Amino acid sequence: MSASASQRIAIIGGGPAGSLLAILLARRGLAPLVIERGRRFSYSAPRGGRSINLALAARGIAALRRAGVEAEVAKLLIPMRGRMVHDLDGAQRFLPYGQRETEEIYSVSRATLNTVLYELAAQRHGVEYRFGEECVGVDARGMPLIDSGGAKKRFDADVVLAADGAGSEVRRALAARGAITAREELLDHGYKELTLAARGGEFALSPNALHIWPRGGFMLIGLPNPDRTFTATLFLPHRRGPSFEGVRPTEARAFFDREFADAVPLIHALERDYAEHPVGVLGTVHCRPWSFANRVLLVGDAAHAIVPFHGQGMNAAFEDCVVLDELIGRHRTERGHDWPAIFAAFEAERAPNARAIAEMALENYREMRDDVRDPKFQLRADLSFELERRFPGRFIPRYSMVMFHPEIPYVEAQRRGALQAEILRALSDSAESLAKVDFARAATLVERSL
Ligand code: FAD
Repeated sequence: MSASASQRIAIIGGGPAGSLLAILLARRGLAPLVIERGRRFSYSAPRGGRSINLALAARGIAALRRAGVEAEVAKLLIPMRGRMVHDLDGAQRFLPYGQRETEEIYSVSRATLNTVLYELAAQRHGVEYRFGEECVGVDARGMPLIDSGGAKKRFDADVVLAADGAGSEVRRALAARGAITAREELLDHGYKELTLAARGGEFALSPNALHIWPRGGFMLIGLPNPDRTFTATLFLPHRRGPSFEGVRPTEARAFFDREFADAVPLIHALERDYAEHPVGVLGTVHCRPWSFANRVLLVGDAAHAIVPFHGQGMNAAFEDCVVLDELIGRHRTERGHDWPAIFAAFEAERAPNARAIAEMALENYREMRDDVRDPKFQLRADLSFELERRFPGRFIPRYSMVMFHPEIPYVEAQRRGALQAEILRALSDSAESLAKVDFARAATLVERSL
C-alpha cells in the first residue's frame, strides 16, 4: 500500500480501454500518465487499416456514462436495429436484434472514438499522454521499458495498467519471463476491409442495420459510417477453399460477382483495395494471471482479446474499466490503495466473464455465417421474442442479454442462454411455425429450468 497522492500510475496504450481508464482514474483524483506508441489521435481514419468502425452496445455505453462522456460519444453513433441478411439471389431480410425501441447497437468510428476519449481525458481531466513512446519490455519488478525515438529507458511507476491491446507487448514480456502463461488461439479465418460507397451522397443500403452476406464458410458484413459509406469486412479462411490464399486479387471480382453481387457496384476499387488492404488475423487470448509483482495489471484486449463476431471486445474492455474503477474505490483506506487486493478481485471477477464472452463470440461466428441461413433460425429467433413477451424477465434471448443487459454478467448470459437454447430446440423441433408451437409446454419448460 502506498499513499495515492504520490502514486505514479502508468497506462500503457491509449486505445479505448486505456483512455477510458485514464478518465475514470482522473475523476478519482489520481493522475495517470498514458504511454501510446502511435501518433497523436486524429479524426481521419486510417484507410485499409484495423477495423474502421465498431459496434458499441449497452455495456460500453454504461461505462461511458460512468465516465461522464456518454453525451460526447452519443453524437458519433449510428443506430443499427438488426441484421439485414443479403441472400445469394439479392433478396434482403431484416432480422431485428431486439423488440424494444431501445434495443439497438451503434456503429462508431474507431479513430473518432479514440480521438474523442483522448481529448476528453487530456483537456477535461488534464491527463498527460506521451505519443510515439512504445513499451518494449518489463523488468523483473514490473517496471516498463519505454522506447522513445530509439532511446530506451525504464519508467518508474507504482502501478502499470497494460491496455496495449491484443498483441500486448507487456503480456509478451511477462510470458517471456515465465511470470504468466499466455496463449493466442488463432482462428483459421482472417479479415480484410473494403468500402461500400455512398450513392448520390446518400447511404446506398439501409443505414440502420448491420448488413450481412452469409455464405456458409465465409461472409461479408457492412457497418454504416457518418460519411454515408459502409465499412465492409470480408471474413474468409486463410487457406483452403474460398480463402485469402485461394482468391487472388485478379480473381476477386469474379468471386465477389458470384457471392456478393449486390455489393459489387458499391465497391469502386475492388481489385486495388483487395490487393492492397492487409489480411488481419483474429484470435482469442488466454492468459493468467493477469497481474505481476503487485504492480502490473493487464486489462482489455491485452488480457482477453476475443474474436469480433459478437461485437463485444471493446464493450468488454470498457466493462473492465468500470469494474477496476469500482474496485479502486472499494479498496481505498487513509493509507492509500490496496493494489494487490484490487488486482486479485479484478481478475477473480473478470476472468470467468472474459472466458464466457470469448466462447459466445466464437459461437456467434457460426451463427452469422451459417445458422442465419437455416429456416429454423428464423423460427427460433421469433420464438425467443415470443417467449420474452410471455415470460418477461425470465426468458431473455441470449443475444439481448449480451448486448442490451449490462446488469447480467457474461457468465450468467452464457449459463441462461444454454438452458434457453434447449427450450428453443425442444419447442421448434416439433413445430414449423410460431402458430404451431405448444405454449403450454413452453410454460412448463420455462417454469422448470429458468
Ligand atoms: P486496442 O484498441 O488494441 O488499443 C491498444 C492501444 O495500445 C493502441 O492505441 C495501440 O497503439 C497501443 N499500443 C499497443 N502496443 C503498445 C506498446 N507496446 N506501447 C505503447 N502503446 C501500445 N469490439 C466491439 O466491441 N465491437 C465491434 O464491433 C468490434 N469489431 C471488431 C472488428 C475487428 C475486425 C476486430 C479485429 C476487433 C473488433 N472489436 C470489436 C474488438 C475491439 O477492437 C477491441 O476489443 C478493442 O479495441 C480493445 O480495446 P483496447 O483498448 O483493449 O485495445
